[in-house]
Amino acid sequence: MDLQTLIRDIPNFPQPGILFRDITTLLAHPQGLRFTIDELTRRFQGWGIDAVVGPESRGFIFGVPLAYTLGCGFVPVRKPGKLPGPVHQREYALEYGTDRLEIHQDGIQPHQRVLVVDDLLATGGTARAVGELVHQAQGELVGFGFVIELAGLGGRKQLPPAPVETLITYG
Ligand code: IMP
Repeated sequence: MDLQTLIRDIPNFPQPGILFRDITTLLAHPQGLRFTIDELTRRFQGWGIDAVVGPESRGFIFGVPLAYTLGCGFVPVRKPGKLPGPVHQREYALEYGTDRLEIHQDGIQPHQRVLVVDDLLATGGTARAVGELVHQAQGELVGFGFVIELAGLGGRKQLPPAPVETLITYG
């Protein structure tokens, strides 16, 4: 299935000059959604993954069904102040300024094999921060999975050394 045909391009969103890759059209397509989860499952089956970690909010959309099909748990990474228990925190750079992500300190057990999942890899700042949170929680980071990679932004080079799987690549 050509998943790229199910992604809608929205020019000048969220700001002028940005071409936004909109996954809501893929999510609304029954066969496309099933294929996406099946394909992510096929890529990571047999890796011995103990937990899928995904950042809010689109990392939840793909991370939870993937954890279900892989037979492991899902651990959310959230914006500041959303998680009720004690957290590890990581600041990361945005185009202008910084943002922070948090994970529950007991979300990952030491040495658990962890897969980081998000909808899209752009500059890599988000996924790198999530990977650092996994390290902080003493998890073993075994890979990254994305539905979309914007390869021209060089995000892969920002990630800690671990295999990266993506289903759709834009140049
Ligand atoms: P990065 O931190 O620059 O790699 O940006 C990745 C994060 O921004 C992901 O969590 C994405 O959900 C979001 N993002 C950036 N660009 C797009 C886009 O074109 N479509 C959908 N999400 C995007």
